[in-house]
Amino acid sequence: MRSVQIQHYGPANELALENVATPTISAGQILVAVKAAGVNPVDTYIRSGTNNYTANFPHTPGLDGAGIITQVGQDIDGFQVGQRVYFSRNLTGSAAEFAVCMPTHTFPLADALSYEEGACLGIPYTTAHRALLGRANAKTGENVLVHGATGAVGIATIQLAQAMGMNVVASAGTDEGKALLIKQGVSTVLDHTQPDHLSPYQSLDQGFDVIIEMLANHNLDQDIKALALGGRVAVVGNRGTVEINPRDLMARDAAVMGVALANIKPSELNLIARSLYPLLNSGLLKPVIRQVYPLTDLAKAHEDVLKSGAQGNLVVKIE
Ligand code: NAP
Repeated sequence: MRSVQIQHYGPANELALENVATPTISAGQILVAVKAAGVNPVDTYIRSGTNNYTANFPHTPGLDGAGIITQVGQDIDGFQVGQRVYFSRNLTGSAAEFAVCMPTHTFPLADALSYEEGACLGIPYTTAHRALLGRANAKTGENVLVHGATGAVGIATIQLAQAMGMNVVASAGTDEGKALLIKQGVSTVLDHTQPDHLSPYQSLDQGFDVIIEMLANHNLDQDIKALALGGRVAVVGNRGTVEINPRDLMARDAAVMGVALANIKPSELNLIARSLYPLLNSGLLKPVIRQVYPLTDLAKAHEDVLKSGAQGNLVVKIE
């Protein structure tokens, strides 16, 4: 089968398309013919060995994907050959024609979604659900800021918050990103490149109940000042250090919490997938795909996913 590989930690341009043996499965595993692979920032951290991520080599990138089950191992219930599925945290890498998947991280793909859209679900929508509902405990009617909303997780968070009846304010860094957020139904869009963009919200009366933060090292100190009484910041993304004044937390009875999808238990993953399914099938949630790349251009997708000016998910199509 065709598979993109890298032989050691390195830059995207060392990713190469190889012909390798199709993987075989053991008991308790599922083989999926991958139709589309999602490209997320974490794929680049794993490829380059940064942010505490490690890999075994040769390494085929890609945690997220969608496709058709071609083989079901012994001791597995609830999956059939020919079933459309999406998956995350697979065992062999989604940038390949086949991936070995775990039943705990493989889920039915809603009929309303294409394989490309299915490849956007694993990390982005699960993270959005866990951050907003599982960690920040956001409620219907609460005021939510999605700080860094134009990327894959941000758009998923907006859609989920709107579906749950929350009042959503969201931020972008480019005009194209702002236009995308307005198209997503957000009426108040902030520009996170402006240093004072949170100042209108930095009082107890005007503050947010919940902030879902995509770049905490830039924003956390100002986020805390923009919380209402009892407000919560859920840190989803961070690429450095930041100084805060804990008095800003005390003044608001506020909380800052981390979110790491890697910590999620299979039972919670399953519950999230089950609650997302009807929302995806009805169109209330719908991934936004910025660009679809051929498998030969995975390196370009790895470079693009780290650039500013996000407008949704990047996906590799596997013919
Ligand atoms: P993405 O598609 O690359 O989007 C990145 C987002 O960050 C864009 O919306 C971008 O906005 C925004 N951003 C850039 N500068 C910002 C600033 N100064 N303030 C606020 N936001 C800013 O990435 P993603 O997949 O949505 O993931 C977002 C972050 O969360 C990444 O760092 C990723 O590694 C992390 N993540 C963490 C988990 C977890 O389990 N904790 C799971 C998934 C992702 P513009 O491009 O419009 O400026």
